Amino acid sequence: METKVAVVTGSNKGIGFEIVKGLCQKFNGSVYLTARNEERGRKAVQKLENLGLRPLFHTLDVTSESSIEEFAKFISTRHSGIDVLVNNAGILDFDKPVPTCEEAKKLMDTNFYSLLTISKILYPLLKNDARIINMSSDWGLLSNIRRQTWLDILAKDDLTTEEILQFVDDFLQNVKNGKTAFVSFAGHNGDYKVSKVALSALTFVQQKQFIKQGKDISINCVHPGFVKTDMTKGMGDFTPERGARAPLYLALEAPQSLKGTFVWHDCHQVNWDD
Ligand code: NDP
Repeated sequence: METKVAVVTGSNKGIGFEIVKGLCQKFNGSVYLTARNEERGRKAVQKLENLGLRPLFHTLDVTSESSIEEFAKFISTRHSGIDVLVNNAGILDFDKPVPTCEEAKKLMDTNFYSLLTISKILYPLLKNDARIINMSSDWGLLSNIRRQTWLDILAKDDLTTEEILQFVDDFLQNVKNGKTAFVSFAGHNGDYKVSKVALSALTFVQQKQFIKQGKDISINCVHPGFVKTDMTKGMGDFTPERGARAPLYLALEAPQSLKGTFVWHDCHQVNWDD
């Protein structure tokens, strides 16, 4: 019988690593641990092998179109498609609440723009009943944004990808205008908040697109909780394993009818735009 395939981006450590671990234990198919750095990725695979688990490995840098293309080519030669895709890779520098323009752009490339490249290159490989899980954050709730115009636009039922792109672009323009403009847009760490709000909004727009295309694909986003990882410099309420709980619920247990929602770390649905 054909093997099912699950892919987790940025999974050499942190929550992504724990998602791979959980999938290796419970998913009936091949699980790809992917990482931008081959050495870090292979070490993570070794750790799981030491526990008796059998993840597969491939390099995948979500900010590199050629890396995503190479991965897509690899998957399409070995498998008939992707069943579960967890867009987990992300960055945040806690010590830099107001980043430089370059830093904000790099963050946006990793946390948001990468999803558009992944949509273009990996989505064609998704099976008709695939599941996509996007790692958002409580900082990805709409209320993190302080500009009324964008609050109104992002909450529209007929929001488009182009409008989300304009939102991110407007934010990056504000970053160029200095600290006051930056903070008045989304507060400290506004680049991260804007990236996760954009990721969440894109989740809902893409769900509508899949439905329109007649596909049974589900795409949901999730706040994993405040989790002790390198990203949070070890601060947080939860272990990475606990942080993986809701993403694993969406990948393995949620009904396929759960579509285009924002899920909290305790697996309950919340209103994104309250
Ligand atoms: P970590 O910093 O522990 O892990 C992040 C992972 O993303 C690493 O494996 C890192 O790889 C990878 N990564 C970064 N850039 C790229 C890239 N260009 N291509 C591929 N992989 C990349 O963070 P967490 O585990 O805490 O975070 C996982 C996700 O959960 C993120 O999206 C984060 O925003 C989200 N999240 C986390 C929260 C928390 O409290 N921890 C709260 C809310 C959301 P490398 O080792 O090479 O740097």
